[in-house]
Amino acid sequence: MKKAIYPGSFDPVTFGHLDIIERAADLFDEFIIAVLINSQKNALFSADERVSMIEELTKEMGNVRVRTFEGLTIDLAKEVGANVLVRGLRAVTDFDYELQIAQTNKVQYPQLETVFLTTSLAYSYLSSTIVREFASHGGDISNFVPESIIPLIENKYQYR
Ligand code: ADP
Repeated sequence: MKKAIYPGSFDPVTFGHLDIIERAADLFDEFIIAVLINSQKNALFSADERVSMIEELTKEMGNVRVRTFEGLTIDLAKEVGANVLVRGLRAVTDFDYELQIAQTNKVQYPQLETVFLTTSLAYSYLSSTIVREFASHGGDISNFVPESIIPLIENKYQYR
């Protein structure tokens, strides 16, 4: 059975993430989206809020699960019995860092294979940081995230 994990911050989830999720989930029997609980980063959404948003957006996808995790990705892979780690690549700027992490993980846990999916052209510019930046200035984020989560994002900035 091919079980994959797709770890990330997803703060918030974007069309870029959802594109990778839709394309990657088809390749595996089970696909686990793992939301990082990162206490150092000043996150916009709590990990639980991020999980609920992604759950709602992927509820029609039968083999997709969403959960939080803390610590090392290889420990998560061991815990859930995943053999593949999925990451998305947007541009060469992602490559150096991702290659280093993938190679480190391979040394530390050879049973886990890292698989990269390249971004769809339409989303190569898109990141959660861009979404937060636009939303914080009251900009239109409808090209970046699904309509259903726009009010949740805007709400966060209204009370800051
Ligand atoms: P992290 O903080 O781990 O980079 P992110 O939420 O920023 O978490 O991203 C999670 C994963 O999704 C990463 O592999 C990232 O490269 C990928 N990703 C983010 N945005 C896009 C996009 N627009 N197109 C393709 N992959 C993306």
